[in-house]
Amino acid sequence: MKELIAAIPKEELHFHLECSLKPELLFKIAHRNKIEIPFASVDELRRAYKLSNLQEFLDIYYQGMNVVQTEEDCFDLTMAYLDRCAADNVKHVEVFFDPQGHTARGGAGNGYDA
Ligand SMILES: [Zn+2]
Repeated sequence: MKELIAAIPKEELHFHLECSLKPELLFKIAHRNKIEIPFASVDELRRAYKLSNLQEFLDIYYQGMNVVQTEEDCFDLTMAYLDRCAADNVKHVEVFFDPQGHTARGGAGNGYDA
């Protein structure tokens, strides 16, 4: 049954890209950008991803929004998401990116200037 479900073509109709940020990548990007996060290890961060209410989700979500700052970060975030889509046989996605959460930090040098 798992193989059948994995093989079925899928589509994702409403997905916020920043919500796809996994603990490993969040940790990697935070260190690459020299941003302090309140987690000493990927395992500690992974435990924080075990959410039990909306506020815990929002805390992690904004933590992720804060570390994604450069074009390279956006590329890594997007590719990690698309790799998972390919592995899950997702054929169509409607992805949202929330620039307002990033531009609040300022425009210059953050990689989003176009
Ligand atoms: Zn939405």
